[in-house]
Amino acid sequence: MSAGTPRASAEVSGTPVPFIDLVAQYATIREEVRAAVDRCFESQTFILGDEVVQLEKEIAAYCGAKHAIGCASGTDALILALLAAGVQPGDEVITSPFTFFASAGAIHRIGAVPVLVDIDPVSFNLDPRCVEVAITSRTAAIMPVHIFGQCAEMEPLWKLASAYDLPIIEDSAQAIGAEYRGERTGALGKIGCFSFFPTKNLGGAGDGGIMTTQDDDLAARLRRLRVHGDTGGYNHVEVGFNSRLDALQAAVLRVKLRHLDNWTAGRTANAERYAELIRSNGLEDVVMLPTTLPDRRHVFNQFTTRVTGGRRAEVMQSLKEQKIGCMVYYPIPLHLQKCFAYLGYKPGDLPEAERAADEVLSLPIYAELPPAHLERVVAGLCHALDRQATLPFPSAAERQARKAA
Ligand SMILES: *Cc1c(COP(=O)(O)O)cnc(C)c1O
Repeated sequence: MSAGTPRASAEVSGTPVPFIDLVAQYATIREEVRAAVDRCFESQTFILGDEVVQLEKEIAAYCGAKHAIGCASGTDALILALLAAGVQPGDEVITSPFTFFASAGAIHRIGAVPVLVDIDPVSFNLDPRCVEVAITSRTAAIMPVHIFGQCAEMEPLWKLASAYDLPIIEDSAQAIGAEYRGERTGALGKIGCFSFFPTKNLGGAGDGGIMTTQDDDLAARLRRLRVHGDTGGYNHVEVGFNSRLDALQAAVLRVKLRHLDNWTAGRTANAERYAELIRSNGLEDVVMLPTTLPDRRHVFNQFTTRVTGGRRAEVMQSLKEQKIGCMVYYPIPLHLQKCFAYLGYKPGDLPEAERAADEVLSLPIYAELPPAHLERVVAGLCHALDRQATLPFPSAAERQARKAA
């Protein structure tokens, strides 16, 4: 580096860059949320009720599904969906090892056996070829997880589902609004399962979840499973759960749903800006960008890079020192979790999932992320890798002018 060239470190010192900032989002919707919460308190209806009914209609419409049924969490949505789809104790359900714990936890919880198969290294989603190999006479369902906000490859899964007569349960917890060939998640399988955990793209003021389906009978079963199997009037046709959605959550979520597409646009724009800056700074040989496949709408619940060459720990340490937030989703693939030792997997069994766990690094992507923060993240990466940052980064206006020229 020539003398006098500004080093990234000179520019990057400054305010901390949080990984996510829900306070910034709340500031944009405070009055609407407060009005919705007031409405709930005035009605004194706190469980299910009209707010939940309205949210269910709105989510069903948003996903292109006929029905939506609110419940207490994304985890419960998976549990209820598996039961409604007829999965029995001892049955096998095929899912991804590279996901949040609940995907496989829900399968275990109903007494079924999680069958974990390897992922496609490009999308981090289930590799359909591995799914096919894993199908046995005990297989009762396939559960793709649309990880980080991008839909799994559905076409081959649809073919397998139809050839082997298996229901597809979508774990859409990270992917509300994501599309596969123009169709939305929640309408890509028998039942779609969503989470309203506060850091999801549509996050509530606490726990919550929802299930979507096109099937009237499944919808009726999901509705009764969430209220102890009651079909109405204390007629319990099966033993279910207490897994209802609070009216307060529904009221807040209805406000936030109106902003969801804007927020998704913000996330997408941030992802594009990262790609541009990571490329223009020549970091791509170490920090590999996430790939959006051509037939998908990626909603970027996470912006997940791969740090190659065994350099992730070093990069993370440096970002930490520079007060730049980053996260590893997920450091231990599920087949190597202690609680699943009984399944008999060992290191090396699912090499792509294991490599992903060793390499992934998620960067701040939330919609309100200030452009200067995003640039500081990239400058921070340059510094971490001892690369000279091309600073200052051109502004949006400058880039526009250059394009026009
Ligand atoms: C968040 C999440 C869940 C669980 O949702 P909760 O609402 O936290 O129970 C399930 N699967 C995936 C992939 C998730 O990201």
